[in-house]
Amino acid sequence: MSKKEHAIQRAGLMARYDDIFRCPVCSLPMKMKNGQSLSCIAEHSFDLSRDGYIHLLPNAKASKYDKELFEARRLMNGSGYFDPLMDALTTGVQECMLDTSSSQPFSILDAGCGEGSHLASLLHKLQRSSQRDILAAGAD
Ligand SMILES: [Zn+2]
Repeated sequence: MSKKEHAIQRAGLMARYDDIFRCPVCSLPMKMKNGQSLSCIAEHSFDLSRDGYIHLLPNAKASKYDKELFEARRLMNGSGYFDPLMDALTTGVQECMLDTSSSQPFSILDAGCGEGSHLASLLHKLQRSSQRDILAAGAD
């Protein structure tokens, strides 16, 4: 899947589950508009990036994180160093999934998800072992 296709897929998921978002300025519910931005009824609007994420800080400052840092993190995360932790986390979440039953998707929030590779790995493992719908969202 291309980067653009991923971004379109993420926009569709954000639109499907836009009820989980609240405006960071006024706390009103938000809706996805045209697959391009999340907006509240007071018209505070936040655009979807080319990479498929939305920056919700109203007064964003330049990040000290650069592309090299994220590439290094991605290499480290893909090295297997975190596999024992991810296996234990997966087992724990699977146990929680067994303890809860609902027609709603099982929801996971990764608060502090970084570039999202750990959440993506967890989601992939859970989807291989369960037929239940899973809503995984990350914020950082
Ligand atoms: Zn607002």
